[in-house]
Formats: sequence, structure tokens, C-alpha cells
Amino acid sequence: MALTGLDIYKKLPQKNCGECGIPTCLAFAMKLAVGQTQLDACPYVSEETKTELSEASAPPIRLITVGTGDKALKIGEEAVLFRHEKTFYHQPGLAILVDDGMDEAVIDEKLAQLKSSQFERVGQFLRADLVAVKSSSNDSAKFVTLVKKAMGTEFPLVLISENSEIMKAALSVCVQTKPLLYAANENNFEQMAALAKESNCPLVVAAKDLGALSDLVEKVTAKGVKDIILDPGSRTIKDSLKDAVFIRRAALKKKFKPLGYPIITFPCEMYDDPYMEAVAAGVGIMKYAGVIVVSDLESWKALPLYVLRQNIYTDPQKPMQIDEGIYPIGEPDENSPVLLTTNFSLTYFTVSGEVEASKVSSWICIMDVEGLSVLTAWAAGKFIPENIGPFMKRCGITDKVKHRKIVIPGYVAQISGELEEELPDWEIQVGPREAGDIPSYLKNWSA
Ligand code: SF4
Repeated sequence: MALTGLDIYKKLPQKNCGECGIPTCLAFAMKLAVGQTQLDACPYVSEETKTELSEASAPPIRLITVGTGDKALKIGEEAVLFRHEKTFYHQPGLAILVDDGMDEAVIDEKLAQLKSSQFERVGQFLRADLVAVKSSSNDSAKFVTLVKKAMGTEFPLVLISENSEIMKAALSVCVQTKPLLYAANENNFEQMAALAKESNCPLVVAAKDLGALSDLVEKVTAKGVKDIILDPGSRTIKDSLKDAVFIRRAALKKKFKPLGYPIITFPCEMYDDPYMEAVAAGVGIMKYAGVIVVSDLESWKALPLYVLRQNIYTDPQKPMQIDEGIYPIGEPDENSPVLLTTNFSLTYFTVSGEVEASKVSSWICIMDVEGLSVLTAWAAGKFIPENIGPFMKRCGITDKVKHRKIVIPGYVAQISGELEEELPDWEIQVGPREAGDIPSYLKNWSA
């Protein structure tokens, strides 16, 4: 059972010195209980208490890191079953599968997709995360050659071979990149656990069902391996969803440690139909995969998966937002249109994209409404004339344009009269309701 804030408080030094950055030990304990601070922040905790509390306050799903540096993938450490309960923290990594039995040209094409299937959306960079390199030839030299090639992409690797000698050969060339080792099974777990421990790399534990999986995890952890990813063996959407939900519930609700690890899924092994494979990957993103191995990431497949992942792993309590201010699009001057909208990222990027498409250089004034969209901010009493008036005065737009015309979103046309009272020097113009109509609106606009 996880400790409560009060349980933790009883074990703290209770000096109330504030050196941890929090004024009292009780407040520190409360924050520690919900994972908002680290035990190391208190310099007075004894080693014995540290060990005791670290184990008790460990997240129910272990945080696992695959790879090193900027591209390292962190998965796990999730605390809720449903995103709306709090948030999901570490988005799953999408891995492209290459196999040493494939033609060179096919391998090159797949590796090239790591770069060609990258997109920018609402200010975030969306891309794949890993290369899964599989030994199907059972030939060490061939596998090592492919591993070296995959290393050239600089993406973290998943090494797939159940032959510990082949795994050892691959590790000899890439251990410094901290690859994920796939997999320890009932037959090879002693050798695989030894390799994982020696190389300090995370290890997948694979079994044919959940009972066998939890037994095997206990055997592998007894060998000293801590960083584990689970493969429950399911290879249909229905089974993998059922297993993923069971594992997540067992880890979070029952605190069942043998299943307290992220999950790997293999849509690439589920269906020959590429559309069904994409659906299986989408289901993995929603519930509750940590690594998802797909046979390729052509743009038609990659973009919807990335966007789905981005949406699910956006903190619902913190809308994506941009800073308040004036944003020039193109090369606006003193006669350019001035558009007003809110600082919800999706709103800004949609509006700025349409302004760019219009080829009419413009100023966009972005008002901070805590990341809400136009209508929501208006309904919440944030995007209203009493607030917009002071914003227009402080944002500095009057230094940028000679005219005094401002275009407000069509969805809040009803505030135009009151806004005129707040900004008597300005002409309030009502813009289109839909962003798609902005280009034609701007082309007909004149100062
Ligand atoms: S540093 Fe330690 S002793 Fe001091 S207030 Fe924080 S938790 Fe308490």
C-alpha cells in the first residue's frame, strides 16, 4: 500500500526548517505523497528512512528509460486509469520494425520514414521514437550489421532476439545507447537477466499469459533486474486491450508489483491488413501501451497516430497555450490588419495558418485567457470587453499600426457593442466565425 502524507510525516525529522523549499515537514510530506517533490530535497532524512520511504513512495508503474540523450524515451510512472482523473504523463513510443531478413532497400525505406514522417502541430514536434531491430536470420553477424545501420538514425533501439548469444553480440556494439532488450522468456530468462543486469539496459519479459508473466517477472527481478517492460503475449486487438486494462488495474488498484511496469505491444504481428494494424496501434495509444511496434510509419498512418497520442497525453488540467503578445504573420506594417484571439494553442495555430495562407501580412493580438478557446473563454467571463479593453491598451499594438481597426472572432460578435465602449478610439470589426474563411476576409480588408 502507498503511504499517506501523514504516514510519511511521522518518519520525517520534523524540524520545520524549510530547507527543502517547503515551509513545514507536514506540507513536504503531503507533496511527497502525491509525487510533487522528491525525498532527496530534505537533507536530514536518514539513509534507513530514505530506503523505507523510497520503496513506499515508488510509483505503482515503474518509470523506464530507453536510450540516452535528447531522444531517450521515458515511459511508465502513470498514476491513473483514466486521463480525466488527473493526466497521463509519459506518452508511448512508436517503434518502426526492421528485420535482418528484409531486403536492404526495404530497410532503407523504413529507416527513412523516421525522418519523413515528422510533423509540427500546435507548436509541438511529432515523430516516431524507436527502431525495433529484429534478428530473424539467427545470424549474429547479420544482426550486428543491421544494428549498426539502425544506430545511424540516432533513435533508441529495441533489440529483438530470444537468443542470448545473438543479443550479446548486438550489445557489444550498442550498449552505450541503452537499448531495450526483447525478450526474456521461460527458457532464456537467466541469460537475458544476466545480460540486462550487466549492460544496465531495460528488459522485456514475455510470456503467453498474465499468470505466467507475473511469475516470470518475479524470477527476473530476483536476478536483480529492475527496469522491466511487459509483453503479455496478446496478438489481437481484443486480447491486447483486455490484458493492458488488467495490468493497469492490477498495478494501480491492487498495487500488484509484478505487473507494475509499462507494456510493449506488437500491432505489426497482429494483422496483415495495414489499416487494422493502424487501429491496433491506436488502441495501444489509448490503453495503455508504453512501446508500440509497427511495421512502418507511412504518413497516412503516422499522422493520425501522432495526433491521437498528442491529444491523449495533453494534460487536461493545463490547456496547451502560448504567451500573450503580438504575433506578426508575414511582414506586417502600420497599415496591416489586426486580429484578436485567445491564447489557446490550437486557436492560435489555426488562425495563424489561415492568415499565412491568405498572404495578407497581419498582426495577431493574443490575449491570455489561461489557454481557453474563444467561446469557452467568453462563457467563462475571461474574453469579455472589460478585459479586452485593458489588454489592447497594454499590448502595444497602438505603436505598430496607424489605423484603429480590430477584427474580433465571429463567434463573439455579440461583444462588439460593449467593446466599442471600452475602446472608443477603435472600430470593432467582426471577423469570420470559421478560420477557413479568414483568407477571403483578409483579401477584402482595407485599412
Ligand atoms: S528540509 Fe526536511 S526537516 Fe526541513 S522542513 Fe523540509 S522536510 Fe522538514
